[in-house]
Amino acid sequence: MESDSGDVPSSAAVATPVGVGIPTPPSRLSPSGAGTFEQCPRRWRMRYVERLPDPPGEAALAGSFAHRVLELFMQRAPEERTVEAAKVIAREEWPDVEADEDYKALRYDETTAKQFRWKAWKAIEGLWTLEDPTAVEVRATEQDVRADLGGVPFRGIVDRLDQEGDGLVVTDYKSGKAPSPRYRRGRLDQVLLYAAAVQEATGEMPVHARLLYLGQRPVGIRVTQDELDGVVEKLAGTWSAINAACATDEFEPRTGPLCSWCPYVDRCPEGMKEAEKRQAKRDAEASARNDVEAQIER
Ligand code: SF4
Repeated sequence: MESDSGDVPSSAAVATPVGVGIPTPPSRLSPSGAGTFEQCPRRWRMRYVERLPDPPGEAALAGSFAHRVLELFMQRAPEERTVEAAKVIAREEWPDVEADEDYKALRYDETTAKQFRWKAWKAIEGLWTLEDPTAVEVRATEQDVRADLGGVPFRGIVDRLDQEGDGLVVTDYKSGKAPSPRYRRGRLDQVLLYAAAVQEATGEMPVHARLLYLGQRPVGIRVTQDELDGVVEKLAGTWSAINAACATDEFEPRTGPLCSWCPYVDRCPEGMKEAEKRQAKRDAEASARNDVEAQIER
């Protein structure tokens, strides 16, 4: 799932708030918490230490709704997993979305609310382009896995654990855009960590781990001990860096293209500069394009 436990810091999972002395590391590290730190330590501090709000945008909210519907849907008996059943669940769950403060903050009118529901429904319906839900043997949904991975107190929530033949498969839904081949392997770290945690917690090593990009394609990997050791080693490195940053309260800003979408950019001078630089570049490119088009039209 895109938003695992690390996305919504619980009181048990966040570091010591600012103003209460040197931050202490969180009690557990999730893939998204690790990913945020790897992306930018300062952003991690603002989110997990200062607990500044990071409101989900439209895409994340629509994705959460689709996840919820699919979770309830896949808990049904296989023969009951029809498109009609998914529609009924979506209708039943919709009032919860409307009551959500983050959804209300989007201030949709009737037309934009309809577009939002349509987008979420397309993600839900996109499951059928990837698999026949009636043929899936589900062992668990929204499985909370906690394990010690290479000395890291890990926590993740697995969307689905499936039985395929004699093996266990870790499955996670994605409602965002499927990555190009160049970025596919990196995206699989999350499900490989889930597989490592399942192995640690149950003694059973999953045979496969996959991301289902709803309406697009699956991206998967055969699970091997080498792959698991690799992601656990990387996680341990991140955990060690988090501990070191907390000990000194030094969280470097790591500027880059994502600064333009960072919810904390207005509190981060380096990020602000980076975002402005990139905006100026985009403006210059757009202006150059317009000049060329004007010359062609003349
Ligand atoms: S604006 Fe950029 S550098 Fe600053 S916290 Fe956000 S991601 Fe990090």
